[in-house]
Amino acid sequence: MTEPVPAAGDPLFAGDPLFAGDPLIIALDGPAGAGKSTVAARLAEILGLEYLDTGAMYRAVTFAALQAGIDVDDAAAVTQLARDCEIVVADGRVTVDGVDASDAVRSAEVTSAVSTVAAVGQVRAVLVERQRAWAFSRNGGVLEGRDIGSVVFPDARLKLFVTASPMVRAERRVAQSGGDVAEVAAAIAARDLKDSSRATSPLHEAADAVIIDTSEMSIDQVVAQILKMLEHQ
Ligand code: C5P
Repeated sequence: MTEPVPAAGDPLFAGDPLFAGDPLIIALDGPAGAGKSTVAARLAEILGLEYLDTGAMYRAVTFAALQAGIDVDDAAAVTQLARDCEIVVADGRVTVDGVDASDAVRSAEVTSAVSTVAAVGQVRAVLVERQRAWAFSRNGGVLEGRDIGSVVFPDARLKLFVTASPMVRAERRVAQSGGDVAEVAAAIAARDLKDSSRATSPLHEAADAVIIDTSEMSIDQVVAQILKMLEHQ
């Protein structure tokens, strides 16, 4: 039976000790296409927290590099760009130096180059600092990415590693943005490999993360499971 999911804005946790003490940080990590973004956004809405898609920040730097004609293999130049550019990720939109790049950061060119940029340790240092500042200035939030529970917030209140089988992930991406399932599956596999084999902050579940395999679950079921975990903490 499906768990009932509280409606958005439901004061489920108003006055709850969950919100006392340290910032309430929820870390969602996992590979591409596992459903992290949808789950994170829904969860944030229900809990009255803000949500940060950290992948969009890496995409924004990649987009800015491609726009500027910077070779994404030039780590020093990409790092300088990451330091200099102003990135705002909010309300499902992404702006880079004041220009709306929400669609551009999802382009095939950015998607195929982003793992190269994200493998640069100094770029990561710049963005991790901004992610921490984002969460501290809000006294918490739901952050989604690859290294939130392992590196950005190792003391997060709840750490989740959201995954799904490669075929399910590819099918979800195709349903979302079109394309050929086999090609999308191959592109996702290549990106996962790059993300999980890089030297700095590789994609892997934090030792104390709860693994949720969403292959056979609806978004509502995943959200309900996470809310239950929070209630029983
Ligand atoms: O989440 P999304 O698929 O948009 O992320 C794009 C890329 O950004 C990932 O493939 C990964 O290379 C990088 N990334 C990362 N660390 C994060 C979030 C994303 O390395 N915290």
